[in-house]
Amino acid sequence: MQTKVLKFGGSSLADAKQFRRVAEIVRTEPSRRYVVASAPGKRFSEDTKVTDMLYDCYHLAAEKKSIDGAFAKIEERYNQIISELGLDFSLQDEFDKIKMSILHHAGRDYIASRGEYLNSMILAEYLGYDFIDAENCIFFFENGVFDSEKTNEATAEILSRHERAVIPGFYGVMPNGTIKTFSRGGSDITGSIVARAVNAGIYENWTDVSGMLMADPRLIDSPKTIDVITYKELRELAYMGATVLHEDAIFPVMEAKIPINIRNTNKPEASGTLIVPTVENDTGSSVVTGIAGKVGFSTITIEKGQMNKVSFISEVLQCLTRHKINIEHVPTGIDTISVVVPTDQLKGKEEEVFASIRRHVSPDAITLNDSIALIAVVGRKMVKSTGTAGRVFKAIGSAGVNIKMIDQGSSELNIIVAVDEKEYITALKAIYSEFVK
Ligand code: ASP
Repeated sequence: MQTKVLKFGGSSLADAKQFRRVAEIVRTEPSRRYVVASAPGKRFSEDTKVTDMLYDCYHLAAEKKSIDGAFAKIEERYNQIISELGLDFSLQDEFDKIKMSILHHAGRDYIASRGEYLNSMILAEYLGYDFIDAENCIFFFENGVFDSEKTNEATAEILSRHERAVIPGFYGVMPNGTIKTFSRGGSDITGSIVARAVNAGIYENWTDVSGMLMADPRLIDSPKTIDVITYKELRELAYMGATVLHEDAIFPVMEAKIPINIRNTNKPEASGTLIVPTVENDTGSSVVTGIAGKVGFSTITIEKGQMNKVSFISEVLQCLTRHKINIEHVPTGIDTISVVVPTDQLKGKEEEVFASIRRHVSPDAITLNDSIALIAVVGRKMVKSTGTAGRVFKAIGSAGVNIKMIDQGSSELNIIVAVDEKEYITALKAIYSEFVK
C-alpha cells in the first residue's frame, strides 16, 4: 500500500463543516497517512482568510495600534471550529503566546505562519494524528532560498517515526531559528515536500475546484476539466497564468516523479486532474490539453539591412536585460527582429532602452507596438499529430483576428500566438471551440 500525502487548502478547512468533510476523506483510505493543512480560508466570498487577519495584526502592532479586537476575531475563528467539532481541547495557551509575540513585534512571517500552525493542531487532534511542526523539518538557507536537501532528509527522518501526522503548510525555519514562509499559497509546496520525503505514491491536493480547467472560466463558458496533464504542460500553462497550484509546488514531486491529483473537497467523488511525469498509451481525447493567455505585452521591432544576425540579436537582447526587462519571445526575419516583452517592465524606460539599442546596433528603424496578448495552446500530443498549427491559425483567421506573431516551442509542446489585446477573447474562444467539441 503506497502512502498518500494530502494537502487541504484554506477553504477546505475554513470551518467545522469543512473539517468534517476533510476527516471523512482522510479516513476513507488507510493509505492517507500524512496531511498538510492550510490556515482557515474564506467561508463565504466576503469573508477574510485567517492569514490576512494575522498580517493585519502585524501591521497594527507595527503602527503601535491595539490588536485586541483583531486578535480576538482570530481566536474566535479557531474556537468556533473547536467547539462545533465537540473537541475537548484548548488553544488558549497558544493564543496567549502568539498575541504576546505580536505585541513584542515578532517577525511578519512568524505571525502569518501561526494560521497553519493552529489549524494543524486542531486537525491533528480531530483526526487523532500526530502534530509535526514544520519548523522541525523545513529549512531555508541564510539567503532565504529553500534548502531542499536538508529538508528532504529531516522530513523523511521525522516522518519515519510517525505512522500518521498532520504538518502545517506554508512555513519553515531559517538557520538562525526564525520562521520563514513561502510566498502566498505556499502550503502547496509543503505538501509536495512531504510527498517527496515519504516517497508517496501520490500527492493529493484538495481544494475547492474539481481540477484544472482547459481554459479560463471567466473567459470561456464552462470549460472542460483536464483529466491528465504532464508536469511540463502544467508549467507551460502556469507560465501563461493558468493556476491551480503554487508554481513552485511542482519541483519536489517532479524530482521523485510522484503524480499530483487535484481534487475537490466538496465533491470528493470527482476524479479531478492528474498531473503526471509522462503519459503512457496516450489515447485520450483532444490534441490540445489546455489554452491559456495573458495580456499586457509589447513588441519592439528592430530593422537593419544586412545585419550580422548573431551579434545583432545578442546586442539587442543585452540592451533589454541590462534594463531588467524580461524577454518572452524573439521572432526574427531576414532584416528584422522583434522582441516581445512585458509592457509594465518597459514602461517609462522606452527612451533609454531605444537609445541604448541605437548606440549598440545602429538600426535602420525601431518600432514599438503595445497592447499585445499572447495565447499558448499546449498539448503533449502535438508532436505526433500533424496539422495542429494549421488548425490554430485557421480558427483564429476565421474569427477575423490577425495574428501578429507565431512561436512554436522546440519541444512541440506549445504553440504561442500574439494578437491584439482587443481581439484576445475572440481568438481564445475560436481556438477553444476548434479543439473542444
Ligand atoms: N495560508 C497561506 C495563504 O493564504 C498559505 C496557503 O494557504 O497556502 O497564502
